[in-house]
Amino acid sequence: IFSEVPEAPADAILGISVAYKNDKNPRALNLGDGKPLVLEVVREAERCLLDDPKQDKEYLGQAGVPAFCRGSAKLAFGEDSPVLKEGRNATVQGLSGTGSLRVGAEFLAGFYPGVKQVLIPNPSWANHKAIFEAAGLQTAQYRYYKPATRGLDYEGLLEDLGAAPRGAVVLLHACAHNPTGVDPTREQWAGILDAVRDRGLLPFFDSAYQGFASGDLDGDAASIRMFAEAGLELLLAQSFAKNMGLYGERAGALTVVSADADTSARVESQLKRVIRAMYSNPPRHGAEIVAAILSDPELYARWKAELKGMADRIISMREHLHAALRERGTPGTWDHIQDQIGMFSYTGLTRRQVADCLTAKHHVYMTLDGRISMAGLSPESCKYLAAAIDDAVRN
Ligand code: PMP
Repeated sequence: IFSEVPEAPADAILGISVAYKNDKNPRALNLGDGKPLVLEVVREAERCLLDDPKQDKEYLGQAGVPAFCRGSAKLAFGEDSPVLKEGRNATVQGLSGTGSLRVGAEFLAGFYPGVKQVLIPNPSWANHKAIFEAAGLQTAQYRYYKPATRGLDYEGLLEDLGAAPRGAVVLLHACAHNPTGVDPTREQWAGILDAVRDRGLLPFFDSAYQGFASGDLDGDAASIRMFAEAGLELLLAQSFAKNMGLYGERAGALTVVSADADTSARVESQLKRVIRAMYSNPPRHGAEIVAAILSDPELYARWKAELKGMADRIISMREHLHAALRERGTPGTWDHIQDQIGMFSYTGLTRRQVADCLTAKHHVYMTLDGRISMAGLSPESCKYLAAAIDDAVRN
């Protein structure tokens, strides 16, 4: 019956990890993806959960851990958010960022009365297109990155949003755009907000790096809050994979912001129905950890400090790599290495330079689009990487 099933294309990132593991060279570097560390505060929260006699393994409701949902919404929208005060949010637990996006996509497929097309930045995290299309929505791209400046194609972006079908959905990376590390400035976000409002687009924020980008949880949520405070209805998918290091625990949340509390209650009832048919209810452990950290002032303060440490380390690796390239006098401008935001840097290296030189000759493993994960670097390996980049650019 299944003999004609074609082989699915391999996952690019997983392929890189496998190739790296098979490379016996001691200098080999894996810059494909993050570097999961278990945060101290997560270990502490887990110890508290183990000791808590009230913890059991009972099923959660479809919407997940209530304290997790409340805490996630507060983290994204802010303590004094009018959206939360007015009860205009329906927040449910999802299977990390991916599952939250998918529940949102299913909800839109069933209930969004507008144009069922999702505009995704070019480029974007590779899974966005697959997630929305799996839910039966169409996708299209809007201009985002300008290779010539290695920055934002702001004019192109505004033009594309302005020409989008009225009422389409637009996916926005809340901060630390993956894969480019290029984020709009505050003024540019205000311009994007105007374009979204003028065209009646429905914003769908993907927030996978809150606090991880700058070390400032509020600053990294500024785009979401700007749109929410302007009174727009929107969707938001949050992930705790990176900022709490909970990757495999699959802790995330989906929020739908509606016009009033009454609508919100009905939206929530439908989100639960979507979840019920997909996986009935989400896993407990990761969400209990997040809820414990978000609701205990002492754990929360410790989390913020550890998060700041991770973000600062990444910023410092950017400085090291930038300095090492300057020291070598590597041809080209490299300021984007320092200017870009978040875990990833889009180096501007071509596929050929990556494949033939960095990987084949220097044992540096990274995606062919030239993206490196700053989390995989140390001050020492920055020098090695700079030498490899220098070789690729000159030869
Ligand atoms: N969105 C973006 C932009 C991402 O980079 C990621 C993780 N790489 C995700 C969503 C989802 O990750 P997860 O499902 O592990 O939370």
